[in-house]
Amino acid sequence: MSEHILKFNNVTKKYLGQVALNNISFELPRGKIVALVGPNGSGKSTILKLAAGLTRPTQGSVTIRNKVANRRIAREVAYLSESDFLYPFFTVAETLKFNAGLFADFDMRKAGEILGFMQLEPDKKVKHLSKGNRGRLKILLALSRRAPLILMDEPLSGLDPLVRDSIIKSMISHLDIQEQTVFLSTHEVSEVEPILDFVISLSEGQIIGIEEVENIRERHGLSLVDWMKETMAK
Ligand code: ADP
Ligand code: MG
Repeated sequence: MSEHILKFNNVTKKYLGQVALNNISFELPRGKIVALVGPNGSGKSTILKLAAGLTRPTQGSVTIRNKVANRRIAREVAYLSESDFLYPFFTVAETLKFNAGLFADFDMRKAGEILGFMQLEPDKKVKHLSKGNRGRLKILLALSRRAPLILMDEPLSGLDPLVRDSIIKSMISHLDIQEQTVFLSTHEVSEVEPILDFVISLSEGQIIGIEEVENIRERHGLSLVDWMKETMAK
């Protein structure tokens, strides 16, 4: 097994006494694309926020390359939240510059490449971008980081199929697939299936399945969607 980048060790997370995650443990290796799937409220966003060091576990530990995940490890992770965090009055180019100032590992050359790939206009103001192009810009910002761990909370949600396709293509072409691990939550399972290495299935704050995608296809002879249904039915 290759080196681990992210480790959840018996993690429980409660909000005001209510259990959001119930004693979960898993490890993600380096250089893999991993999907987090499960119904709304199952704990996907909570896992990603814990991994980003933005919230702390009630019990257990979350570590990135053996360091406790807290706000100080922000440079080790690129975190793309569900909410729209772009500044509307910035142009696309200014948004890149702003992020380059924020993160030492922001790779402007790569950002330029992805910009061309996604056909985003540098001089356009964020507030004038379509929803799809705002989605593309957010992905661009995450993929331009040389961080070993890239976390994306539902990067495809609410976007049309063409935009989702360009985002998925950009992930495979612009990631450093040897070094970077991508951990993303999604409902668009069949669309991301071709690029996935692992999948973690959640239900009510617990892991109900964790499997290599190749195994699901070869050993179980199932599509990812059918495998998910099977884990849910147990
Ligand atoms: P998902 O992303 O899979 O929809 P979440 O991680 O957002 O799930 O939520 C898991 C559970 O934790 C849900 O029951 C949700 O209501 C609860 N929860 C999430 N964030 C908060 C919060 N800030 N305060 C209180 N409860 C929360
Ligand atoms: Mg969520």
